[in-house]
Amino acid sequence: MTAARPLVAGNWKMNGLGLSLDEARAVSAAVDAQPPACRVALCPPATLVARMADLLNGTGVEVGGQDCRAEESGAFTGDISAEMLADAGAGLVILGHSERRAGYGESDALVAAKTEAALRAGLEPIVCVGETLQQREAGETLSVVTGQVRGSLPASLAGKAFAVAYEPVWAIGTGLTPTLEQIEEVHVAIRETLVEVFGEAGKGPPILYGGSVKPSNAAEILKAREVGGALVGGASLKAADFLGIVTAA
Ligand code: PEP
Repeated sequence: MTAARPLVAGNWKMNGLGLSLDEARAVSAAVDAQPPACRVALCPPATLVARMADLLNGTGVEVGGQDCRAEESGAFTGDISAEMLADAGAGLVILGHSERRAGYGESDALVAAKTEAALRAGLEPIVCVGETLQQREAGETLSVVTGQVRGSLPASLAGKAFAVAYEPVWAIGTGLTPTLEQIEEVHVAIRETLVEVFGEAGKGPPILYGGSVKPSNAAEILKAREVGGALVGGASLKAADFLGIVTAA
């Protein structure tokens, strides 16, 4: 199993109105003018998925959702299914982001069910894992993160396209980043767990790093052992910043 191409994905979170599509347009223009070494994706809020997918159709920039419900349809007011995201033109979906694990009490089992739903709809899941500051200070980082990997990734992922994103909760949106040694230690542990769980197929999926990635630190983070791309929050909102990370990959 050869390693997948690195992936740099932007998570717009609950940011972006119609006008923000200009940023997506600028990203795709630059990517198409000079194709980067990595795959590039943007994950806007659900309200913009269809419009962004139409806009970026045929370009080198892919579109993803930020979450989905595990069920295909039903009485779940306000929720969105994987099938709906795929129907709107998304090809990927972020699942198990710490803002959902903490804010909505999402368990590993629920993230695994959502991951199954993503596969059923033909979406490529990006499954997020990461420790809190309290867990890191208690020396629990590796057990927490590898436990999340085991619990959040269903067996049906074997041989399918998917990515894991290691996002230390304390590094998200804070400007703090782990040392390169800390990043490598966790990424290597995630890779070992993927191989334990999926065998040979566990060697391929990219393991993204996420948490305060910006143009100034992207190159060294993206070179670290077992780092196969980045999940980028704040710095993905402006095309110039995001492109500074894409070109560093
Ligand atoms: C994220 O929330 O996925 C993220 C990585 O955010 P930021 O880059 O803003 O830290």
